[in-house]
Amino acid sequence: MTNNKPHVAYFCMEYGLDENMRIYSGGLGILAGDILKAAKEFSYPMTGIGIMWRKGYTKQLIGQDGRPFDNYPINENIYSHAVDTGETVEVRIKDTNVKLKIWKLDKFNNATLYLLDANLPENKKYRTVTDHLYGGFNEKRIAQEIVLGIGGVKAIRKLGLSIDIYHFNEGHAVLAGTELLKEKINDGLSFEKAWNSLSDNIIFTTHTPVKEGNESHSLDSLKKMGAFNGLSREQMQKWGGSPFGMTVAGLRLARISNGVAKLHGQTSRAMWKSVDGRSPIISITNGVHRKSWVDERIIKEYQQNDLNEISNKHQEIKKELIDFIGGKTGTNLDSDKLLIGFARRAAPYKRPNLIFSKPDVINPYLESGKIQLVFSGKAHPMDDKGKDIVASIVHKAREFPHSVVFLEDYNMEIGRMLTRGVDVWLNNPRKPLEASGTSGMKAAMNGVLNLSILDGWWVEGCEHGINGWQFGDGYVGEGQDESDLYALYRVLFNDVVPTYYENKDRWKEMMFESIDSSYERFSALTMLQRYYSEMYNPQ
Ligand SMILES: *Cc1c(COP(=O)(O)O)cnc(C)c1O
Repeated sequence: MTNNKPHVAYFCMEYGLDENMRIYSGGLGILAGDILKAAKEFSYPMTGIGIMWRKGYTKQLIGQDGRPFDNYPINENIYSHAVDTGETVEVRIKDTNVKLKIWKLDKFNNATLYLLDANLPENKKYRTVTDHLYGGFNEKRIAQEIVLGIGGVKAIRKLGLSIDIYHFNEGHAVLAGTELLKEKINDGLSFEKAWNSLSDNIIFTTHTPVKEGNESHSLDSLKKMGAFNGLSREQMQKWGGSPFGMTVAGLRLARISNGVAKLHGQTSRAMWKSVDGRSPIISITNGVHRKSWVDERIIKEYQQNDLNEISNKHQEIKKELIDFIGGKTGTNLDSDKLLIGFARRAAPYKRPNLIFSKPDVINPYLESGKIQLVFSGKAHPMDDKGKDIVASIVHKAREFPHSVVFLEDYNMEIGRMLTRGVDVWLNNPRKPLEASGTSGMKAAMNGVLNLSILDGWWVEGCEHGINGWQFGDGYVGEGQDESDLYALYRVLFNDVVPTYYENKDRWKEMMFESIDSSYERFSALTMLQRYYSEMYNPQ
């Protein structure tokens, strides 16, 4: 304990700390990175455990035909950001002992992060297991999870860290439980006693509000890969079921679990209702690390309560974004015209091309440039439908070269530029599939107005017409896509466009409200305080 705060080991498959440290893919990693940065900034005792992904996540390139394709350059530069601790640990994968080097990373104003790396010449067999983030499935994924979970606990012991709480962020880390249980069993406890004494110190966060999106593995595969780690089949089955659900296992082993927004907590409780012996699932809404995401010029004017200057600074930042886009694509957008941003994983349920659905309605706005759109986002390498979506947007950009842009290879830099520089941040997932969404929070704090379905964090954040807009009224059911489309058009053409072009004063007030209502409430510090008071160290 430090200042009566428990020391937390935070386990996560990915960390988004900096665009030059390509060991992240998306929202999960950004959250983990922001948590470590807030922990550092506000002196919360926390240590991150992760993997040194040598090739990271896919680098997106767009082909001549407009279709994205995947590319995995080696990220040798990630090694230059980290420090070799000189320590290694060994895990057993299938029939092989695999040596893992432990790197230490703390140069991005983050609480210390230890990264495990199998890329050693003496690893004849599993040397590439830490190459591709989310590049493997089934047995390869299990091997990666052995590295993170079992390797992570061993690294903590090897480094002599004194840990009070083990936080498994998403199911990927759950195999850490096998090692922690084994330690207690080796001390002479029965499985049940080991379980009971361990549970108090385990926290679990779930992120995926679609049941099929939650990873599970057959007990046979887990056994074959060595993931039982000394536990019996009966014990494993009792813990995670058969097939072994990583989320189910996390929910059962933890003392308390959480979803990442109010609504997501509710959705998760309903989804996992039938899991017996699971921990209570509360809601802790995500937050973002302000220093990483919010432009200082905006913070300064916000603190002076100067609405005109907030707007002027935004215009300056918007021009910087337009230059950035011009440099990447050759497109010169117009800084006096409305600019809408949309950046997220290109997955069908996020419906990135919803806005294009009725060409006769939307096209005139795009032709005149009254609405300008900038998109970015990767599809998962295995997701052909997601790639179709990217291709369709690239084609739109070719059709409307002065008003629609697609930025290749969405990363933290693009995320930062867009959520600072556009006027409106559009979000239209098919409710209730968005767990939280943090890009909208970044936008809100920069005075960029959210225009979003009532899903994820926006259910909590939205004051319609005051700090942004909702559309669709949270409707879920038959004809949802069409009803959301008309709702989007209604709000866009009746509220957003007229306010932007005809009521600048109102727009400025809304920018201020957007910042004011999100600044503290959706900050990483608020989130971290809640993790410590409601989960790590309940009073
Ligand atoms: C903020 C951010 C995310 C998370 O945003 P969502 O709203 O969850 O889509 C993902 N990727 C990058 C690069 C980001 O900057």
